[in-house]
Amino acid sequence: MRDLNAIGRIGIGDRGSVTRLVFSIKELRSRQVLIHLMRQAGLKIHIDAIGNIFGRFDGGNPAAAAVTAGSHLDTVIHGGKYDGPVGVIGALEAVRTIKENHIAVRSPLEVICFVGEESSRFGFSTLGSSLVAGEVHPKDLAHAIDPQGTKLADVLASLGISQRNLRGLKRSAKTLKAYLELHIEQGPILEAKGKRIGLVTSIAAPSRFRVIFKGRADHSGTTPMEMRKDALVAAAQLIEYVERVCRKNSSMAKGRVVGTVGAMKLEPGVINAVPGRAELAVDIRGTSAESKNRVARLVKERARAIARRRSIGVKVLKIREEDPVPLDPRLLRVSRRLCDEKGIDYEIMPSGAGHDAMQMAKIAPAGMIFVPSRRGISHNPLVWTDPADITLGAQLLMETMIRVANEKF
Ligand SMILES: [Zn+2]
Repeated sequence: MRDLNAIGRIGIGDRGSVTRLVFSIKELRSRQVLIHLMRQAGLKIHIDAIGNIFGRFDGGNPAAAAVTAGSHLDTVIHGGKYDGPVGVIGALEAVRTIKENHIAVRSPLEVICFVGEESSRFGFSTLGSSLVAGEVHPKDLAHAIDPQGTKLADVLASLGISQRNLRGLKRSAKTLKAYLELHIEQGPILEAKGKRIGLVTSIAAPSRFRVIFKGRADHSGTTPMEMRKDALVAAAQLIEYVERVCRKNSSMAKGRVVGTVGAMKLEPGVINAVPGRAELAVDIRGTSAESKNRVARLVKERARAIARRRSIGVKVLKIREEDPVPLDPRLLRVSRRLCDEKGIDYEIMPSGAGHDAMQMAKIAPAGMIFVPSRRGISHNPLVWTDPADITLGAQLLMETMIRVANEKF
């Protein structure tokens, strides 16, 4: 908790909010503090070109594949102090405890801090882990620009990562026995069920697209109701439909689909004109690719039907299409057995939010442990997790690492 709080003071602002955008001075400072803590703990430190940090303890067989654990230290704007750091400091504390107590581990252990997990600056999430997994492609970078106009591709180039060399940071799967990530839940389920630990089965992924309704801007006083082509009323009907169809598909059995229209642009957007153009940003997520894709398809069909009925135009533009990522059931079994042995009440659940683990799952068996978020609040200064739950999560992470390091896997 002392180390977590030290990291949490970097970038602190109003009402205890924390802002450490990727590649900002504050975020770099948090990485420096971590490097210092790793050095104190006697870990061998490796930093790759983007700035991902790997702190290694060799264990009994330094040549073996490593059991790795980590998360990220960057934050959203006005975020909380636990999203990310709990997984990095939790992993550090796990390895420190193993070293201090001379607990025998066969495989090497590694603490990892990934750069740029949050998409808040460039609109590009899980940057560092995507590079390590070899999952960044030049076309992905085309629209990655921050609000000041800095291109992510230029930042990468300044770090020696060219468009042609995006796979240069990819880590060989052979060097990885497992990747584990402790994280706050960022949702209300654990608290509602009174559980202190969540064992994660899969990570939901989004279908994101823009829907643009094109009606006609007209005078709000002179245009009779039956002669209008109001783009915003069409948009309102679609927004209501997104809620309705996602509610119908929100059960675990139906792949826990959730859908949000989180942004809208309106033209002309004045009180005395019928809206001529409405642009909606739609985000549909689910833990099953099949149900998520089906709901996304239904929403697009409905957009077209609404436009047809109202004799207005509509365009659907893809933003990003990803599939949900299953985590490794063997790792979940190890943590589950530990919970059973120790009488810890756990919930087996999917993750609605994205994490570095979904990239690492492409090159290593990956697992995640959740601890409860008070009132499910996340991406907000009011983020809170009970220190006792963080401690329990770190303890479970450590014991899982020990078992995975010592067992055939
Ligand atoms: Zn996070």
